[in-house]
Formats: sequence, C-alpha cells, structure tokens
Amino acid sequence: MEKEGKKAGRWVLVLYPFQGHINPMLQLATILHSKGFSIIIVHPEFNSPNPSNHPEFTFRPIPDKLSESNVSLGDFANLVLTLNKHCLAPFQQCMNQILHEKDSTDHVAGIIYDTLSYFAQSVADDLRLPGISVRTSAAATMLVFAVFPNPDKEGYTSFPDSISENQTLEVDLQILQLQQLLASILRNPTDAMSKLRTEVIHATKSSSAIIVNTMDFLEEAVLSKIKEYFPSPIFPVGPFHKLAATRSSSLLKEETNCLSWLDKQALKSVLYVSFGSMATIDEQELIETAWGLANSELPFLWVIRPGLVRGSEWIELLPKDFLDRVGERGCIVKWAPQRKVLAHSAVGGFWSHCGWNSTLESISEGVPMLCRPFVGDQLLDSKYICHVWKVGLELENNNLERGKIEEAIKRLMLDVEGENVRKNAMNLKEKTELSLTEGGSSSNYLNDLVKHISSN
Ligand code: UDP
Repeated sequence: MEKEGKKAGRWVLVLYPFQGHINPMLQLATILHSKGFSIIIVHPEFNSPNPSNHPEFTFRPIPDKLSESNVSLGDFANLVLTLNKHCLAPFQQCMNQILHEKDSTDHVAGIIYDTLSYFAQSVADDLRLPGISVRTSAAATMLVFAVFPNPDKEGYTSFPDSISENQTLEVDLQILQLQQLLASILRNPTDAMSKLRTEVIHATKSSSAIIVNTMDFLEEAVLSKIKEYFPSPIFPVGPFHKLAATRSSSLLKEETNCLSWLDKQALKSVLYVSFGSMATIDEQELIETAWGLANSELPFLWVIRPGLVRGSEWIELLPKDFLDRVGERGCIVKWAPQRKVLAHSAVGGFWSHCGWNSTLESISEGVPMLCRPFVGDQLLDSKYICHVWKVGLELENNNLERGKIEEAIKRLMLDVEGENVRKNAMNLKEKTELSLTEGGSSSNYLNDLVKHISSN
C-alpha cells in the first residue's frame, strides 16, 4: 500500500497480549501508518511483540503483574478483569510521559485500543482524548456482550441502559442461528463474566468510534443491529491482514520449511490442520486425530504447538507406527507461517478451531474449512462458517474418533459436499477481494475512518 502524505497526529495503540489479538492490532497499526499516521504501540509486558519486526513503530511496554498461573487457569473473564486492573495506573503514567515528551512536535491525537484492554478508554476519557475501540473478533460478538439472558422468560433482554426489549433482535439472531448459542454462552454467567460485560459495554459506549475486523457483506444484519446499541460510528474495515503488507508478529518461531514441503504437493491436495494459539487437547484426541489423518491417505500439514497436548511437551505421544506410516505424506510443525500456508496453491482445506483470524485468513484465500470449535466465539464463528456462509463442514466435537475424522476429511477434500463448500469459499474470496478494491465496502470504510481520525 502506498504511504500517503504525513498527517498531523500520533496515535497510541494499546494491545491485549495474546496472539489472536496482537496480529490484527499490529496489522491495523500498519494500515494506519501507511496512511501517514505515527504510531506508538503500548503493550503489557506479558507476551511482548518483537519491536525489531516493526521498526516503523515506537514500542512502550507497561507492567501488567500477570503470571503464567493467571493465564493458565483458563478463566477468560477473570484474566481480562485482572489485566485491566493491573494495567490502568501504568498506562496513565505512560500516557503522561508520552504527552510530555519534549522532542516530539506532533501532538497525540488519541488512543486506539483492543476492546479487551478497555482500561485505555478510561485513561482517554480522563485526558479528554478520543478513544477508539477495536473489535478483533466477529462483530456478532458485540451482541454477546450487549444482550443479557432474561431469567424470567425465554429469550433475551437488552443491556439495561441500552434500547428497550426488541422483537427484531430476536428475529435476526434466529436467522443467524445465534440464539441457542447466546443461550449457552450466557446461561448462568459468572459474576466475573457479568462484570466484564458491564465494563466492555461501558467503554465501547464511551468510545468515539468502533473499528471491527470484518466486512460489511459478511455480517450485514448484525452490523446494522449493533448500530442500534452503540452510538459511535462503526468501521468494518477487514480483513486487516489483506490491507496491510505486515511482517510476522508471531510469538513463536515460524517454521518456513513447511512451505518447501507444500511446493512438492499437488494442487489443492493438502489438508492444513491448526487449532490456533490457545486451544488444548488431551492425549486421546491427539491419537485419534493422528490416525484419522493417516487413514484419510491425504497429505497434511499439522501444527502441533508446544502445549497443545495437555501433559506433553510436543509430539512425544505420537505413536511411532503412525509416523512410519505417514512418512513424507505428513508435515508436522510447531508453528506455521499460516497466512502463507493458506495462500499456497497446494492447500485444499483447513481443519480449524475457527478462531476469528484463522476464519478471515481462510476466507480471504478461498480455502474451505472443517470446523472444530473449542470455546467462546469459536462456536459462533463455526455457525457462521457452516450455516450462514456455507464455506465449511462441521466436525462433531463429541467423542471425536478416528473413523469420524477420516470420514469428515474425505467429505471435505474429496466428496461433492466438499466441492460445494469449495465453490462457496471461492465466491467469498472474490467478494472479499471486491470489498478491498476501490469503491468496495472495506475500502470505503477505510477512507471514512482515515477522515474520521484525521479530524482529531
Ligand atoms: N497462526 C500462525 N501459525 C500457526 C497457527 C496460528 O501464524 O501455526 C496465527 C494465525 O494466522 C492467526 C493467529 O495465529 O492470525 C491465531 O488467531 P485466531 O484468532 O485464529 O485464534 P486464537 O489463537 O486467538 O485462538
């Protein structure tokens, strides 16, 4: 992307320190930098990105007092609350330093933050700077935060200080088959989850704009519904990674040797298997997955992240006869250059945990998916993939055993059913490309966003 003329103003971008959030935020930073804005990245010390990969930005770590044990408990809501509590004062201090820097002539125009680092919005409010919230997951997840289950009757009521109960909302959610999903996510919410929802809604409502890593055509109904809940302008300018020629922001080392392995495989023959940066499986699922892949007789590239298998370091639990049987037909890595893998012509399918970044990356390359969601928004993304956009097939999560896995892989890679989702995936890829070209929705929203933030 051409770097445009220098615009006044430095923007402070605040990260939420996990891979699936760091990637899109640094991509957004690259987009804004290419439009002429100076960028300061403020990030918790935990999971620090590597500044040398991004010499165009200034990096400012802030202490977060997070420990591996905070993180490994796997309690999402408490983790977000703790991080926000710990980062508030250090971020206030950091902003005071930034605002009083003598050597900078450019004023600080505002703060752009990951929705889950909502502590940044209260600092922006105190400093009377605009705060812009960035949703790095599907726009639909904003409804999960905005809508409460109503314990007195079936259905949902809106968040108390938002619009009154609304029939249309229920209709839209039914269309997207989100209703049961919301019910399962929101039934008996913990105190921590309720508090988190209150905090996130409050911050998002105070923000001067909302940026979402999505495309208008992907979530049209949901986006118009969200506009009723949140007063600030919304800019769906995704997929970020396609708008920014970003360098890698992987926390683990990418094993690029898998690209030369892919070069040797036939067109669209390879199944890429990855469950993202956080999900874990047990030994039995590892073994069943391995034999399902082996028995499918298809080539596969499998990311087994250190820590993916609970109680094991890496692949030591894989049976030797499995490794002997698949030989060169399988390539196993600790971490892949995923965007390059999905863009490779040899890849014909993606067995995914349906994280939002993986979903957008797959859609952008027209790769159909086999969906094995684990938690949270992955369940919602899987519904979108399989039932709304029809670019993937569901893999039943209960009792995943080798026979079911082999059958599902063949359905996706070899059968007519797979052929249909492949066609739909190619259509979605074309629509994505159109939205990014001049006059397309993401391109237009990006122009509007640049105008919006240039006025600060
Ligand atoms: N990723 C990668 N290499 C891998 C696995 C994942 O580069 O081997 C990247 C992937 O491209 C995506 C991110 O890690 O950008 C994972 O984000 P996602 O939202 O899909 O899932 P999460 O890790 O947050 O569950």
